[in-house]
Amino acid sequence: MTINEVVLRALDSGFSFVTPLDPATIHLRPEVREMCASDKCRGYNRNWTCPPAIGALEECRERISRYKRGIIVQTMGHLEDEFDIEGMGQISEKHKLNFAQFHDTLIKFFPDVLSLGAGGCTRCEECTYPDLPCRFPHLALSSMEAYGMVVSEVCRANNLLYNYGPSTLVFVGCYLLD
Ligand code: SF4
Repeated sequence: MTINEVVLRALDSGFSFVTPLDPATIHLRPEVREMCASDKCRGYNRNWTCPPAIGALEECRERISRYKRGIIVQTMGHLEDEFDIEGMGQISEKHKLNFAQFHDTLIKFFPDVLSLGAGGCTRCEECTYPDLPCRFPHLALSSMEAYGMVVSEVCRANNLLYNYGPSTLVFVGCYLLD
């Protein structure tokens, strides 16, 4: 499948904006990993797709270096105001659902697809970490942040806006294909 076909399929599946991603533009930053460790999103040391289970930054870098093609996907929505918590939740849920469904489509064409969304994996109601192995390793979804990416930087490096103006919110993910 060409990269343009993947982009069109992603747009058809409900993402607001999609662009090809050049994996060579990705830089992994230890500072982002340190933010994970501050445990704001409650994923750190609680999920197979978050640090420390996801592996050291060097391992993530090695994993990413195997890919030559990818795409970035965004779900953008409008908020009534900066306190519109319900609106934020709806945009987040829409992104999460589309992101997981599109992974399930891509894996049929790209068996080694690496899908990095926003936040740790929520495929299962409760992650098996650390007591049992991951239930669905081929369906598990990690995040750009867990891999140490500065999301806005990756968007910028691939000519994609990250800020769509006042009263908007955007969630971002990427798929590394092959
Ligand atoms: S698929 Fe389930 S067990 Fe595996 S990382 Fe996701 S939530 Fe955890």
